[in-house]
Amino acid sequence: MRPRGDFAERLKRIPPYPFSETDRARKAALAAGRDVIHLGIGDPDTPTPEYVREALKEAVEDPATHRYALDEGDPGFRRACARWFKKRFGVALDPEREVYPTIGSKEALAHLVLGLVDPGEKTLAPEPGYPVYRASTTLAGGEAVPLDLAPENGFLPDLSAVSDEDAAAARVLFLNYPNSPTGALASRGFYLEAVRFARRHELVIVGDAAYSEIVFEGRAPSILEVEGAGEVAVELHSLSKTFNMTGWRIGFAVGAAGLLAPLAKVKSNVDSGVFTAVQRAGAAALDGYGDFVPGLVELYRRRRDVFCAAMGAAGWEVAPPKSTFYVWMPTPKGLPGAEVARRALEEADVVLTPGGGFCRPGGPAERFVRAALTVEESRLAEAAKRLAKIRW
Ligand code: PLP
Repeated sequence: MRPRGDFAERLKRIPPYPFSETDRARKAALAAGRDVIHLGIGDPDTPTPEYVREALKEAVEDPATHRYALDEGDPGFRRACARWFKKRFGVALDPEREVYPTIGSKEALAHLVLGLVDPGEKTLAPEPGYPVYRASTTLAGGEAVPLDLAPENGFLPDLSAVSDEDAAAARVLFLNYPNSPTGALASRGFYLEAVRFARRHELVIVGDAAYSEIVFEGRAPSILEVEGAGEVAVELHSLSKTFNMTGWRIGFAVGAAGLLAPLAKVKSNVDSGVFTAVQRAGAAALDGYGDFVPGLVELYRRRRDVFCAAMGAAGWEVAPPKSTFYVWMPTPKGLPGAEVARRALEEADVVLTPGGGFCRPGGPAERFVRAALTVEESRLAEAAKRLAKIRW
């Protein structure tokens, strides 16, 4: 018999959440009074825009927002999502059937997988990739098959390399463009290829579009723009990074009603929706997109340029990312990312995220580290200066 309080087997099969580990090391260094520059977790450092905060204040004064929102959510938020989607991607969505509010995209990813994957089934999960793809698959009793994203392939997965056996057992293909941590973008042509692959193998594409608006070169398409995607793809959007709202926990899933149904069924049994006042503020955020987001993207662009130039001068191999606020860097001399991150904190008081947090043990991403551009330009320059002093 298992001792009381012992973790369930499925929980023992997933490692501790990697960013929690990094954060523990950072807190210990801070507690020791060190001047730590935190380029670890990707959490915007600038505030949620004032117009969104004002919208929340107003909404919270209305007692109608105080009750359970329940899963179908606030019709005004769903309409705002559909309005924004049409303007941004040119795709018309039925706000009642094809938009679904979520408590951020992390929750939506995990619950969608729970609704789609049975024990013994597989998912196809890009690596490096957000750890939740693998963890949610394991929690559902499935197996995540890694799809390596190689720099020479523009950090796109080579779908033709997926074995027939894996393709037949897979229920889900995760895609994440703009891509964290590599900053790569996907073209409509790639999405078309992915849609064909999904149709051929009867699987669902879960598109993680958390960084869809933090783009420095051109624009990031939605997978729903391409022909046939409506039958196979669900796309998860988030207000977290676009509007500096990580703590608010709000996003939305889009796709055909039939593909949103498993998410809705899981969620109706495990949560009771996003606070209605937050949904009203979310609607305001989307409606005010044009007044806020271009400035935010410029801020990250300047930071990217400062950091990449300084790291390049320090002898690191850095390619400025096309999107997101991350810089994904091969480690000096191909050292393990965990060692580089440990020494960066110990010797330079700089927090970097080791690439191993984004891949299976032994995956190629282990020889990379990620820097988040979520501190001011002067601190980024200082971080690069400190890292330059380490003898690797
Ligand atoms: N997807 C990716 C690739 C991320 O990096 C993150 C957060 O860092 C998320 C999804 C989750 O974001 P949220 O749950 O705040 O929408």
